[in-house]
Amino acid sequence: MTSAAVLIADESALIRAVARDILEEEGYRVAEAGDGLTALEACRQEPPDVVLFDIEMPGLDGYQVLAELNSNAELKHIPVVFLTSRASVEDVIVAGRRGGAHDYLKKPFEPAELLARVGSAIQIKKLQDELRQRNADLDRMSRTDELTGLYNRRHLDEELVRLHSDASRHHQLISLLLLDIDHFKRINDAYGDPAGDQVLRTFAERLRAVLRAGDIAGRWAGEKFLVVLPRTDLAGAREVAERIRFITAFDPVVADGKEISMTVSGGCALGPGESVEAVVSLADRCLYEAKQAGRNRVVIATFPSTR
Ligand code: GH3
Ligand code: MG
Repeated sequence: MTSAAVLIADESALIRAVARDILEEEGYRVAEAGDGLTALEACRQEPPDVVLFDIEMPGLDGYQVLAELNSNAELKHIPVVFLTSRASVEDVIVAGRRGGAHDYLKKPFEPAELLARVGSAIQIKKLQDELRQRNADLDRMSRTDELTGLYNRRHLDEELVRLHSDASRHHQLISLLLLDIDHFKRINDAYGDPAGDQVLRTFAERLRAVLRAGDIAGRWAGEKFLVVLPRTDLAGAREVAERIRFITAFDPVVADGKEISMTVSGGCALGPGESVEAVVSLADRCLYEAKQAGRNRVVIATFPSTR
């Protein structure tokens, strides 16, 4: 038994009733449509697991409905089985396959044949859904830093290039913020590496909480983090940086039952400047200055052209 949902779109109420009986007997949930437009609307309202389309329907025909489904990212993965009473089904097969139909079924059909076609369409969709999900998971994992859940360096590099070129093209500002935990080595030495890891995780959570949608934060290296703030001027970037610096210094992290006090230094550069590398390097120089000047501070710089 199955609880998969099937939509039958056919002009003939009799064909719909016959198919419905056969499918419901097997536990399928069945919806009906008498023409192409109604079928399309039904798919949009509640996407079924498989659709059976008569090719010749009033209004939109089966090929047109299929083309509409294919043009919609949400609906293009629904398998389509064409119903046809044509003597020759070859043209249907060719045209249908070209348009992405999964299968066809010749009317009148035997119950076993209908169930076999629907069953195999659903099985293939299930496998394809699993594959898509697995690919999406792999893609996410390849962009995520395992320890903190933030973006990793690889994704940051890609996003930096993309956001920087957007900013250059649209003559918009973009701020970069490099943050490095102060004397992190001492934290590891004093409390142990697992506590150090917990400090990094908590810092990452706080970073995420401070940022807006559209800001990108990731782990640049070790205990150094990069934040990309698109369409953000120096005042906005300074505010974000100071908030992170303040929270870090104000609120000790609890790891292994102990309160660990720490501070963070930041270097902030305003772009787009002449290149993405130049903005990163300016932020890095600012960070170095912040360390030299005694840590627990943010140093900000801008290119002459964006001042
Ligand atoms: P500064 O204020 O100049 O930045 O000093 P620092 O001690 O933070 O910098 P340093 O570069 O001397 O040491 C960084 C330390 O961070 C050394 C490294 O072992 C540690 N570290 C890097 N990645 C991780 C990690 O994932 N987990 C833990 N626990 N430690 C890490
Ligand atoms: Mg450090």
